[in-house]
Amino acid sequence: MNPPDALVVEGLVKRFGGLTALDGVSFAVPEGSITGLIGPNGAGKSTAFATIAGFHKADGGSVRLRGADITGASPWALHKAGLARTFQIPRLFGRLSVAENLMVAAPPQSGEKLPAPWFARGRIAREEAALRARAMAVLERLNLARHADAPATALSGGQKKLVELGRALMSGASLILLDEPAAGVNRTLLREIAATIARLNREDGITFLLIEHDLDLVAELCHPVHCMAEGKVIASGTMAEVRADPTVAEAYLGMAIEPV
Ligand code: ADP
Ligand code: MG
Repeated sequence: MNPPDALVVEGLVKRFGGLTALDGVSFAVPEGSITGLIGPNGAGKSTAFATIAGFHKADGGSVRLRGADITGASPWALHKAGLARTFQIPRLFGRLSVAENLMVAAPPQSGEKLPAPWFARGRIAREEAALRARAMAVLERLNLARHADAPATALSGGQKKLVELGRALMSGASLILLDEPAAGVNRTLLREIAATIARLNREDGITFLLIEHDLDLVAELCHPVHCMAEGKVIASGTMAEVRADPTVAEAYLGMAIEPV
């Protein structure tokens, strides 16, 4: 028996004015998988993420998370339901430290129900210490512990992507959508990011949906792989099957530049 799907997207439509960015997108993310989402620039991959995660309102179609209809749910509600996303361009709080960027991504603590009465201060301090300990544990896993107290702006682009992943982990997400985790990252850090995703999947049972242009990385990490072009899924299967599909080659040939 196959496990149930973590995420099922059916006939998703998203328009921006006259432009149809998603033109009936359907695909599934099996529970426990690292599923790949590939396709040329402008195919609609990031828009699919934003619509699934509640950042855009869909103009049609449905999204189910572990069987529950989540179409149109707010990012906050989805976050609570265990779905987190990272952004193609990392969105961190530049004035906060790396550890603080993780701490603010955790579910609300009692200290946030302000104003705190004087007798609650001890409890709040203990919670903050526990939160800091959790953030440090996540940073250890991401090999970023030595940067815990540096401002987020001091990190390289690739390290910022890891911090975004750390924020998703702090939220307790069991399904994480990663938008181009390896883009603009040096080879060493790319290996580290790939190993981290594989380990979190294997050891913590986290399901991933991964947008990535580095098709070798997709081949190494992802199964199944869905290829989008012009707002539709045009092929699904193993990376080898998708790569061999002539419609996929044609979609990539239409690009002015090679996928990076
Ligand atoms: P991909 O991530 O596959 O490169 P995107 O989802 O970013 O593609 O974009 C798909 C199409 O939707 C593109 O034509 C893009 O210009 C358009 N688009 C994306 N976001 C917006 C937006 N917020 N407003 C208007 N058009 C958008
Ligand atoms: Mg994109």
